Amino acid sequence: MNYTSTRNNKLSVSGSTAVLTGLAPDGGLYVPESFPAVSREDIERMTDMDYPERSAFVMSKFFDELTQDELLDIARRAYATFDGDPAPEVKLDGGLYVLELWHGRTHAFKDMALSVLPLLMTALKAKAGQKETCLIPVATSGDTGKAALEGFSGVDGTAVIVFYPDGGVSHTQRRQMVTTLGDNVKVVAVRGNFDDAQTAVKKAFGDAELKEKLAAAGCKMTGANSINLGRLAPQVAYYFSAYADLLSSGQIEYGDKVDFCVPTGNFGNILAAYYAKLMGLPVGKLICASNDNKVLTDFLDTGVYSLDREFVKTTSPSMDILISSNLERLLFEFAGRDSDTVRAWMDELRTAGSYDIGGERLCEIRETFWGGYALQDDYADTLCDVYDEYGYLCDPHTAVAFNVLAQYREECDDDAPAVVVSTASPVKFASTVLESIGLSAPDDDVAALRKMEEETAFPVPESVYALFDMDERFGEVIDPDELPAAVLAFAESL
Ligand SMILES: *Cc1c(COP(=O)(O)O)cnc(C)c1O
Repeated sequence: MNYTSTRNNKLSVSGSTAVLTGLAPDGGLYVPESFPAVSREDIERMTDMDYPERSAFVMSKFFDELTQDELLDIARRAYATFDGDPAPEVKLDGGLYVLELWHGRTHAFKDMALSVLPLLMTALKAKAGQKETCLIPVATSGDTGKAALEGFSGVDGTAVIVFYPDGGVSHTQRRQMVTTLGDNVKVVAVRGNFDDAQTAVKKAFGDAELKEKLAAAGCKMTGANSINLGRLAPQVAYYFSAYADLLSSGQIEYGDKVDFCVPTGNFGNILAAYYAKLMGLPVGKLICASNDNKVLTDFLDTGVYSLDREFVKTTSPSMDILISSNLERLLFEFAGRDSDTVRAWMDELRTAGSYDIGGERLCEIRETFWGGYALQDDYADTLCDVYDEYGYLCDPHTAVAFNVLAQYREECDDDAPAVVVSTASPVKFASTVLESIGLSAPDDDVAALRKMEEETAFPVPESVYALFDMDERFGEVIDPDELPAAVLAFAESL
């Protein structure tokens, strides 16, 4: 299986190149040259597999340079860090299910892919004969940083350095990051906001002098953000797994179409669902749920993607995004895989702040996708309603999805089985959860967690409390222009 670029469909590279470089040289995203098929028999066989086996099977469709055994070993090691089943499906009532993707180390769905990616990188690196250490600079607004640190910590041949905006992440998020153990991890605060940190990291990737010095230190930079194909492939697996679970528990018959409602930010998670559909999974509608930052809802309504809007900071911060980078992969498919068209749209977005895909393409997209949004106060009510009705406590991101699914069902009169994709544990957002169900939230994070546990009986893992007693290992604060020096110093210390 080879990969091409959304901005140059003549390009053809191996899976290892795609994963080890992250982004195509033309600035495009890597996409499969064609979609591998998964048959009915394959899906029925999955009902007898455990999660790592399902994951390895789906990943084998993407990375044929690795053997089934190698992939199974990767999946077993990655998902051994999870608490129980990595992707359990909870039934709320006939036809409404929740796919919980937050049983990993950092209690959010990023763990599903970031536990696998480091192992995938080292395996592909060995096949490709790359000797250098994969050095991963990451800019984070909070969640991705910790998931990357946990994923890469202790993985030989890799190292990760995370940059977060000084004062721009929550107290808990900062504590989570600066207490991470391991010799191949580092955390640095950058003066400025998230954009300043991200721009500085992007610049480092294009810095030829830095690359040369890193090579001398035995390191090569690679990207681990959500556009990396090595994050997308493991995400495709849980959609197959969710369907297999509905089959094996007799909730559906093979061929029944299942809707998925996904709380969306960068469009990576929901794109994985679409890839599963292209590979043969009987998917009905894909419902794209946004919060107050409803750029995707507007796009799915009008065909115009426009950045001419206010950025709103919400209680579902992982969806506070204006540029959904993985959408480019969807556009590539609906543009008939014509990379010139995609490149023109991306140029328009950069220069004019918007692009318009036209009515015909929009119609085609809407055969599969439905977009909706929920405002902060409304999804807080939904969180409370879901808790009252089903006794099910969810986090604010998942509440957005519940709200939008209800809108979809009302408007479209669709009673197909639907799976709400749950992307974070309530333990990550205890204060918001408490306030949503009508209780006051103590200022102190630990007190908020204890109160949530007492009032709702939602079990908070001991490891979450333990975090607050761990030593802080990293305290460095730099200016954005000092970032290359920080990357180099870290490389030289390895
Ligand atoms: C990252 C994240 C999302 C958004 O996922 P995308 O793949 O970027 O669309 C939603 N919820 C949570 C909790 C997240 O961490």
